[in-house]
Amino acid sequence: MADGRQEQAPTPRPRRLVVVGGGISGLVAAWRLVQKAGPATEVLVLEASPRVGGKLLTGEVGDVTVDLGAESMLARRPEAVGLLAELGLDEDVVHPRASAASVLSRGVLHPLPAGTVMGVPVDRSRLSGLAGILDAEEVARAGQERTREAFRLTEDIDVASWVSFRMGRAVVDRLVEPLLGGVYAGNSDRLSLQATVPALWQRARAGRPLLESQPTPTQTGGPVFAGLRGGVGRLPLILAERLEKAGAQVRTGVTVRGLSRTEDGWRLETGPAPSPEFIEADGVILALPAAPAARLLAEAVPVAARELGGIETASVAVVAAAIPRAQLDGLTGTGLLIPPVENRQIKAATFSSNKWRWVSDETDAQHLIVRLSLGRAREEAVLQKDDGELAAVAVAELNQVIGREVRPDRTQVMRWGGALPQYEVGHLDRVQRIREAVAGVPGLTVCGAVYDGVGIPACIAAADRAVHDLDTKLRIDLRTLAAGPRVGQERIRE
Ligand SMILES: Cc1cc2nc3c(=O)[nH]c(=O)nc-3n(C[C@H](O)[C@H](O)[C@H](O)COP(=O)(O)OP(=O)(O)OC[C@H]3O[C@@H](n4cnc5c(N)ncnc54)[C@H](O)[C@@H]3O)c2cc1C
Repeated sequence: MADGRQEQAPTPRPRRLVVVGGGISGLVAAWRLVQKAGPATEVLVLEASPRVGGKLLTGEVGDVTVDLGAESMLARRPEAVGLLAELGLDEDVVHPRASAASVLSRGVLHPLPAGTVMGVPVDRSRLSGLAGILDAEEVARAGQERTREAFRLTEDIDVASWVSFRMGRAVVDRLVEPLLGGVYAGNSDRLSLQATVPALWQRARAGRPLLESQPTPTQTGGPVFAGLRGGVGRLPLILAERLEKAGAQVRTGVTVRGLSRTEDGWRLETGPAPSPEFIEADGVILALPAAPAARLLAEAVPVAARELGGIETASVAVVAAAIPRAQLDGLTGTGLLIPPVENRQIKAATFSSNKWRWVSDETDAQHLIVRLSLGRAREEAVLQKDDGELAAVAVAELNQVIGREVRPDRTQVMRWGGALPQYEVGHLDRVQRIREAVAGVPGLTVCGAVYDGVGIPACIAAADRAVHDLDTKLRIDLRTLAAGPRVGQERIRE
């Protein structure tokens, strides 16, 4: 240089991996990246809303903190309980009190029967437990399943068609709808057997009946569900804190509006449209619901964007109510389910103080907490009421169902617009097409509730998979860089 100073090569920036979406999927993905990548790699989470957690959220009803989104996790799968243990939260893991839920049928509450898979009876010896929910003729029809002509499914079908063909429509309307519909807020006439009840899909493919004399022994030992003392909504806050302690950045209030390929990575566009900000990344994980994922992939992976754009969602709402204890005196059970055929607007009530000891411990001696759920796919009209009206409708219906006159002292309404992806017939093929399209693109993977299951354990598993795939891709990319472009890898880097 003219002034004699040595020209300095620009310091290369550290490798940067960006996770878009700060729900449970994105936070778990970031957590795994931090563990895998080590301190030399920057991990950044970008979350559009002012808080992390997505559908995991606690809120207040009066003085009590309760879950306003997801409230329990399947404990028969290892992912969620494993994560809690890994985070040192074993002592805060709780299980629902052992007490039954009920289902409304023809205006009367009946204990939810045992021996079903998502409401489909699978255990012949327990058929008599359906009496009351189904009338005698309907129980008999369900029991005649074995006598129907053998039929082997070769392609996906909606749950309702298959179950009503085998066992009669009443099983669908009065058992499957409240259980399966509860998880997806969907309609079993559209939901995929293959994607939503894989155990029964396997039987159907093998030409085996739904109802077995010797039911396949279910996994026993240990509770089916787990919760977290203080609410499942604490989990994302704990994860975000751990991430920051480990050196990752979690930025809220940052909507990613654009995603484009660069020479050797990705550019994410954030900030207001007139003065955008750009973030460069070597690797990106999109941990988003279908619609924002589709928008961001429109240019980079149009096939995936189109497929994601075709996924419907259901909007739901939760009304949490603090009800004077005396008004619910003697009410037992963890809650009740209401199938659409009962023509009610509420589809479930969770008696949170009965279900979770931590809720009753936190609540003052005068109140009990009840959570009411509303909203199903393609039935958004019920949610178009204001909060006061929605709470009033929900409580009035609860009163009719339980035959009491309760008047909550406080309610809290939480709306979840477009919250639950609908796993309709052909969903798994669609997911495969999305994954195949994304697989051919370097430095990019996807995860979230749209792919392998809406439950928290499934989201964790999908996040693990996305991190594993990104790791593999980045290793390939780095090797490509070291060796120069080679045939077969040029396609990957384009
Ligand atoms: C009312 C309700 C009750 C439920 N109950 C249970 C239950 O008891 N047990 C269970 O296992 N599951 C339950 N679920 C399902 C489960 O909670 C969800 O499927 C899961 O939490 C989804 O997590 P996610 O991270 O994939 O998506 P989300 O939670 O939707 O997170 C995605 C995040 O991405 C952000 N985002 C969107 N667009 C952008 C963008 N352009 N840039 C940056 N960020 C963006 C969003 O703000 C959001 O925070 C329930 C769901 C609902 C709605």
